[in-house]
Amino acid sequence: MTVSQQRSLLTKIPGPRSVELLARSRQAVARGVGITLPVFIERAGGGILVDADGNHLIDFGSGIAVTNVGNSAERVVAAVQEQVARFTHTCFMVTPYDGYVSVCEALNRLTPGTHEKRSMLVNSGAEAVENAVKIARAHTGRDAVVVFDHGYHGRTNLTMAMTAKNLPYKDGFGPFAPEVYRVPTSYPFREPVPITGAEAAARAVGAIEKYVGASNVACVVLEPIHGEGGFVVPARGFLPAVAAWCRENGVVFVADEIQTGFGRTGDMFACSAEGVVPDLITLAKGIAGGLPLAAVTGRAEIMDAAQVSGLGGTYGGNPVACAAALGAIATLEELDLPARAREIESIMLPFLQDLAERHPVIGDVRGRGAMLAIELVDSAGVPDPVTTAAIAKACHAEGLVVLTAGTYSNVLRFLPPLVIPLDLLHEGLGILAKAFDGR
Ligand SMILES: *Cc1c(COP(=O)(O)O)cnc(C)c1O
Repeated sequence: MTVSQQRSLLTKIPGPRSVELLARSRQAVARGVGITLPVFIERAGGGILVDADGNHLIDFGSGIAVTNVGNSAERVVAAVQEQVARFTHTCFMVTPYDGYVSVCEALNRLTPGTHEKRSMLVNSGAEAVENAVKIARAHTGRDAVVVFDHGYHGRTNLTMAMTAKNLPYKDGFGPFAPEVYRVPTSYPFREPVPITGAEAAARAVGAIEKYVGASNVACVVLEPIHGEGGFVVPARGFLPAVAAWCRENGVVFVADEIQTGFGRTGDMFACSAEGVVPDLITLAKGIAGGLPLAAVTGRAEIMDAAQVSGLGGTYGGNPVACAAALGAIATLEELDLPARAREIESIMLPFLQDLAERHPVIGDVRGRGAMLAIELVDSAGVPDPVTTAAIAKACHAEGLVVLTAGTYSNVLRFLPPLVIPLDLLHEGLGILAKAFDGR
């Protein structure tokens, strides 16, 4: 079914049917599961979400960087329908199937580096991060896990410990897993004195050596661009220097590309922008066109360190999700969607920079490809989460789905599907500009 690629608002946002559904939701769904914009979706495709009241909204969120190939992408739908009618589950660890192997082959081929690789499949990003840590510990025989300020790695117990921000992710949910150490990242906009990427890396490494000790570190886990932390792009040189230190010290360098992967930043994977080849890479979100799938891919000798049957899970690499991933990956390659992300950047970035010039509340414009953000601050540079929330709300009311992010909740982030029609992209930007003008 194709969805007409036009914004149209038939009711207020949310409309009466969504309001009714939200009331039902409040009686049935746990309060802890928050909702950004309570419009209940019935169909979606391209750059449009259609809600229960028939409103057509422009999608600048992609369900948090998941539907890079669009919702219900043709090849994903066909592959899923074919697979779901053949068989839905056997458990790969009991009686395997070739879809799982094909996805691992594709990930081994697509991820940075030409070395021998292996992959394993799980259900969620957090599970991928957990498994990367298990594998790194098995390989090194060491315990410590190093993560960064503004990092986000998930909501399970270990990944909560690895996530930086307390509210809403961690508050009241402790105690957390031990042996997780946090060090400073590179956040150019918030450096009191500008420093280079190499200097920021030296600061991080210095903290690791002082507080943890290199010989105790199993792995360093780093997002090439911090996602939930506010699309913080480290200064050039930071990533390669951290990776080099890991190599010199027998530490497994894990790139968490769960949000940055699968064409989102203009490369298939964000590490490639600086030629960084991670030892392990965690993958999820954009991997399967919306079906739940995640992966760890990495150097064969590290991946193979875990004992037989030490890794896995009942649903990991479910055959329907694998079929979806193969459809999504074929779409990414056939349509060259990384190039499409660069085209989106070439339209959005100058627009956002111009907007920032007219509106001093926008302190920083940053990101790469179709992963762009603006950080809102007052005249003293203090984070402005109130204006951030107000702008998001104004966009929502006009039928533009935007998300917020950031350790200080003062970042508006933009993650359009890579297949969004360009007229919708321009229209969405116009709505954003009007929200600032009307403030
Ligand atoms: C979303 C995200 C995760 C967690 O993925 P889930 O599928 O929500 O468990 C981990 N790391 C990064 C960088 C993410 O953006």
